[in-house]
Amino acid sequence: MYKEYGISEYLENLAIEVQNEIKQEIENVNKICEKNSLKVLKAFQKYKVSEVHFNQTTGYGYGDIGRETIEKIFAEVLGAEDALVRSQFISGTHALTVTLFGLLRPGDTMLSINGKPYDTLDKVIGIENNPSSLKSFGINYEQIDLIDNKFDEEKIINRLKKKNVKLIEIQRSTGYSTRDSISIEQVSDIIQKIKQVSKDVIVMIDNCYCEFVGEIEPAEVGADIVVGSLIKNLGGGLAPNGAYVVGKKELVELVAERLTVPGQGKEVGPSLGLNKPFLQGLFMAPSVVASSVKTAIFASRMLEKLGYDVKPKYNSKRVDIVQTIKFGNPEKLIKFCQGIQMGSPVDSNAIPEPWDMPGYTNQVVMAAGAFTAGSSIELSCDAPIREPYIAYLQGGLTYEYGKLGVLKAIQNII
Ligand SMILES: *Cc1c(COP(=O)(O)O)cnc(C)c1O
Repeated sequence: MYKEYGISEYLENLAIEVQNEIKQEIENVNKICEKNSLKVLKAFQKYKVSEVHFNQTTGYGYGDIGRETIEKIFAEVLGAEDALVRSQFISGTHALTVTLFGLLRPGDTMLSINGKPYDTLDKVIGIENNPSSLKSFGINYEQIDLIDNKFDEEKIINRLKKKNVKLIEIQRSTGYSTRDSISIEQVSDIIQKIKQVSKDVIVMIDNCYCEFVGEIEPAEVGADIVVGSLIKNLGGGLAPNGAYVVGKKELVELVAERLTVPGQGKEVGPSLGLNKPFLQGLFMAPSVVASSVKTAIFASRMLEKLGYDVKPKYNSKRVDIVQTIKFGNPEKLIKFCQGIQMGSPVDSNAIPEPWDMPGYTNQVVMAAGAFTAGSSIELSCDAPIREPYIAYLQGGLTYEYGKLGVLKAIQNII
């Protein structure tokens, strides 16, 4: 079977070996998938999802009961009071941006406690100058770096004892950094400590890539506001765009009033044709996320056996769907990404090259032969062209397709 697909016998045998070695890990992922599926199913039933909710509104989008039901279900599944789930968010970065602009006012300070946030937020915050940044509105930014992949608790607490910190941001997945991702236990622990010193400070979580990888979500452990993209985990590969914000009711309302109009908030915003793919995407999400995690586990063990430095290891606990592979040189890195593209269902004949991308500092190579442009819950691989030449591999709508894509990419570097 594999020969037809251009995979050598050597790789085929290695894949069989790896499949045996990762049995226990795959079993654990299946258990988490079942628990998250139960959460989703219960919420669909509680809010009595019916065909009427697949209808759309146009224009202003008043009285969209499908949209309202979707938002109740997202809040329920993610353990939050309220939710904003909209296609008017054009990306995860946009949802993070609207949340920051919605919650911060001139003179306030935003504090990141895991070092620098995701690259595309540089111009939003004003780390890189931009006439439309938070900084340009007189909003300050400070950051406290991690020490050995742990929060610097002493520094955080001391900073909170002084004034003006309105909002703390925690980004769980790593973006293009080399640190570890941040577990739900670490999030829970630091929130308790933060709230002991300052119960009013808003804890905001960038939860991109983390939803449904475990069984507990950040709002369930006290996060005030949580943000993620629908062309990642919770869109289940079916949402064609959009993002979500969930959290405390009054905070979600502030974000809604920034996304739409003060005084109109969540009441407006047409769903156009998207209620059904949003609902069906969430329904598929536990299983699609599980497929992505399995693909990552398979890739991790395969590449480890071939001598590459991988993170996480196949048998470590996972926080997000991302698998990193250190290649040490640009040629192999680019070849690997090109191989992922070759193993994709769409644009498999395209050859990705490093390019300047809006919002990113270095050139970036991106492989995404996806049904939805740029969707990274579908098998995809991207990397900034800088030392130590790390590939960020994620997604896989099914494990079988994920595995085939990874094998193609490995064959391409061999
Ligand atoms: C993907 C991602 C974002 C948002 O990215 P978009 O491409 O704008 O959707 C933000 N933070 C993290 C950690 C991410 O992985």
